[in-house]
Amino acid sequence: FGKPSEQWQEYQGAPTGTDLTECQSWRQEAAFRMLNNNLDPEVAERPEDLVVYGGTGRAARSWDAYDAILDELRNLDDDETLLVQSGKPVGKFTTHERAPRVLIANSNLVGHWDDWEHFHELEAEGKIMYGQMTAGSWAYIGTQGIIQGTYETLAELARQHYDSDLAGKLVVTGGLGGMSGAQPLAVTMNHGVCIAAEVQPDRIERRVETDYLMDYADSLDEALANAKEALEAGEPYSVGVEMNVADMLEALLERDEIPDIVTDQTSAHDELEGYYPSGYTAAEADELREDDPEKYVEESLDTMERHVQAILDLQDEGAIAFEYGNNIRGQVKNHRGMENAFDFPGFVPAYIRPMFCRGRGPFRWAALSGDPEDIYRTDEAIRDLFPENESLMRWIDLAQEQVSFQGLPSRVCWLGYETDDEGITERARFALKINELVASGEVSAPVVVTRDHLDAGSVASPNRETEAMRDGTDAVADWPILNALLNTASGADIVSVHDGGGVGIGNSLHTNNHVVLDGSDLAAKKARAVFTTDPGMGVIRHADAGYEDALDEAEQSNVHIPMQHH
Ligand code: NAD
Repeated sequence: FGKPSEQWQEYQGAPTGTDLTECQSWRQEAAFRMLNNNLDPEVAERPEDLVVYGGTGRAARSWDAYDAILDELRNLDDDETLLVQSGKPVGKFTTHERAPRVLIANSNLVGHWDDWEHFHELEAEGKIMYGQMTAGSWAYIGTQGIIQGTYETLAELARQHYDSDLAGKLVVTGGLGGMSGAQPLAVTMNHGVCIAAEVQPDRIERRVETDYLMDYADSLDEALANAKEALEAGEPYSVGVEMNVADMLEALLERDEIPDIVTDQTSAHDELEGYYPSGYTAAEADELREDDPEKYVEESLDTMERHVQAILDLQDEGAIAFEYGNNIRGQVKNHRGMENAFDFPGFVPAYIRPMFCRGRGPFRWAALSGDPEDIYRTDEAIRDLFPENESLMRWIDLAQEQVSFQGLPSRVCWLGYETDDEGITERARFALKINELVASGEVSAPVVVTRDHLDAGSVASPNRETEAMRDGTDAVADWPILNALLNTASGADIVSVHDGGGVGIGNSLHTNNHVVLDGSDLAAKKARAVFTTDPGMGVIRHADAGYEDALDEAEQSNVHIPMQHH
């Protein structure tokens, strides 16, 4: 990847302030700031290697490519479009002002060759890059980006199983990395108790420092003793333990300490560079990976097999088990022939799909000024616009109280399609409101609105977002491709298409968009179009698969679906 860029060392994150600093207009400047925000040492997990989060999810292919992207963005005109292929700038064409300023394709391979083996060969030759989801599309905003999704998932679990509250309930999990680090805070926000195993001590420390985790325990005994006290008192509590999660789950079984809920967010989607085998410290395992990658992979998969078996055993003993989108079930089924690996569900069919049917997904925005006041002003706008939405109101209160900003101040809110009397969707209403606030100067600089790739109509991922679709279309990837094309047609400012996010190369296709709200009429037009068509894809994709909620949303909100008869 080369030596870390001098520019990157100088920036240490996004340039901020209310004036353009680098580029000709705000659309280009927004791309420039978001890319640097992704690589902010406060935001990214290993920025010196260009790694943003999620195993090896990168923002640029090499440090030379990073420098070249910055130069291209500095020189990009308002009617030009830059092309980025797996984290490297490869071309620029004159298009038109309403078109995207940047189009990105990361990690995509043709079906027959679409696996880690072929990918790693090309990666070693510097010809491709793993973009994960928001890493390669410059939309990662730190652990704050995933926190609401994790909170909503656990809130839905609590609604289904425990009278809407996790007080007195123990959640046991693995991983305290970029996204997995949101788990303890999401549990305590729902009033529960969380024990998380993590092999890298600095990751545990980082979550404590950023208030995502309350405590660091030296042993499982200590963690259990503290957790029990909190459970009895009905108090929220979270603790990280430095150990391999497979060992921890087996130890819990041995002692007959059965948690209420078990899940996992280690980077199991990548057996070589994401997941840690048992029997080594993290540093020892890192050495083994360098010296003998084949042995590493075998041991990593052996540990995963024990890990999944322990989850199944805990489920048998009464714990509620679900996979949290890291493909650990797929890994042991494919590589170890474990036929019953899928005997516990994924989180999407269990808790998220009803929201996708209504076009609801993780809408998020970042204040390009760098000023937290701008986000607080948008929080007020949310409260004014959607006062009847109780869970959203509760979320805004919790987020203000408990979620620390990382890098550019940002917020996430799950918003959907539902239209008002004028036919404007929930997402578009809010984006148009932000644009007005920028125009009037109440928000001090433009705001960029983006989202996770995990959204209602933007992903095909049979072991995650499209697991167990009603009509069996789990692996049909036409939908995300249509989604990206439609985002481009609607004038999003960045559009990207990636392979392999979340669950590993060959297991998913997904897309992302950015819209820059600079207060202009053009921004209003783009926002209205993108935030109608983008959640609209979620409605039609799920209506096509026969989901009642989606058919109902389509009817209520006038989404035109040919050949659909209610
Ligand atoms: P990350 O690589 O930043 O963090 C993973 C952490 O797990 C690391 O800190 C690592 O040290 C730890 N770890 C790995 N193997 C371990 C083991 N055996 N025992 C204990 N700790 C271990 O990745 P991330 O961004 O946190 O994402 C983690 C995984 O969860 C990915 O597979 C990602 O795709 C998935 N994920 C899915 C969703 C979702 O909404 N579906 C959300 C977050 C994460």
